[in-house]
Amino acid sequence: MTEGKGYRMQIFVPQETHAGERRVALVPDDTRKLTARGAQITVEAGMGLSARHADAAYEAAGATITADRRAMLGAADVILRLRKPPADEVELLKQGAIHISYLDPFNEGALVDAMAAAGTTAISMEMIPRTTRAQKMDALSSQASLAGYVAVLLAAERLDSIFPMMMTPAGTLAPARVFIIGAGVAGLQAIATAKRLGARVEAFDTRPVVAEQVESLGAKFVKVDLGETGQTEGGYAKELTPEQQRLQQEAMAKVCIQSDVVITTAQLFGRPAPRIIGRDVVEQMKPGSVLIDLAVESGGNIEGSQLDEEVDINGVRIVGLGNLPGRVPVHASQMYSANLRALIEEYHDTETGSFKLDLDDEILKGCVVTHGGAVVNDLLLQIRSRNG
Ligand code: NAD
Repeated sequence: MTEGKGYRMQIFVPQETHAGERRVALVPDDTRKLTARGAQITVEAGMGLSARHADAAYEAAGATITADRRAMLGAADVILRLRKPPADEVELLKQGAIHISYLDPFNEGALVDAMAAAGTTAISMEMIPRTTRAQKMDALSSQASLAGYVAVLLAAERLDSIFPMMMTPAGTLAPARVFIIGAGVAGLQAIATAKRLGARVEAFDTRPVVAEQVESLGAKFVKVDLGETGQTEGGYAKELTPEQQRLQQEAMAKVCIQSDVVITTAQLFGRPAPRIIGRDVVEQMKPGSVLIDLAVESGGNIEGSQLDEEVDINGVRIVGLGNLPGRVPVHASQMYSANLRALIEEYHDTETGSFKLDLDDEILKGCVVTHGGAVVNDLLLQIRSRNG
């Protein structure tokens, strides 16, 4: 992108177009912080409304409001979005523009190739490395923790009974038994939320290192001897062998059948989510029990879960609603926007006004997917060649 003294980075934030998406990419508070350091920000009219931010708040923060989306898509140096760009907007982008958004690059091959062909530098927020230095930019974590919270509220609302134990003159009500499978960012937040509501909580994860974190939240870690498991360098779970999967499914079945609520959050980075709960287990659960499948968008942990649907199997409900962070758009936008601002601040050179695109930088190396007309991301290229 253009460099030189006095140059001001021109950022555009278009309105999200994905149906039902209420989160927004940039909030007024971060707009103010970025304009204060010299960025020139243009926001599409009405962009923030779904997260309760009026155009006037962006104007007060130093942004310009425009109704001419097409013109700004073609003029901006940096585009900030939440969702991936609509395919027909890629060709509108200025040659060499930096486009920062979720991109789902493992599943969106054609879109990634189109961005490469358009000469766009695409940064995928899913690919921000899970390192201490990049933590403030880690949108997967910020959104996953909200998803964990929302999942518990959905379960509590759908359950025919209550979460906490109550000792009353009218008798004692037993606490709900909640089982959380996958104790990463979303799972740990789900555990904490369910504990706060007074449930009796158990949890399991294939990464043994999380047992201590589960217990420190007051939940019981379900011990299953799967033999050698573990995690990748990036902190992600390794895929289980077929025999380990069978052992896990058996152990999970026992706990599920005794639980009122099961929340599954198990994911494998860059691969479909592992199938953990079969239909036979759901059929053995008590009528009125609720399962929430947080992995539904990547294939689902529960047999029979359907994206954006609630399936009833003999009185047991499987909730497969997608985009749970989108149900709390104010805080989800606040966090996503802070992640984007942190990314820009890290690389925005206030001297020259440009974005320092150092492709040897450890974070950018991880999250830049296309640059200079080609797909440049090592991990994506590796996965592409593995899949032929
Ligand atoms: P994720 O969304 O990829 O997966 C969710 C959880 O599912 C993980 O804990 C994973 O171990 C678990 N899982 C996978 N297969 C499973 C199975 N068959 N059964 C049960 N559980 C299974 O992971 P995430 O929540 O995004 O993050 C995972 C970990 O990455 C974190 O707990 C942390 O250690 C690390 N992390 C580090 C940073 C950082 O250092 N900046 C930031 C975020 C996450």
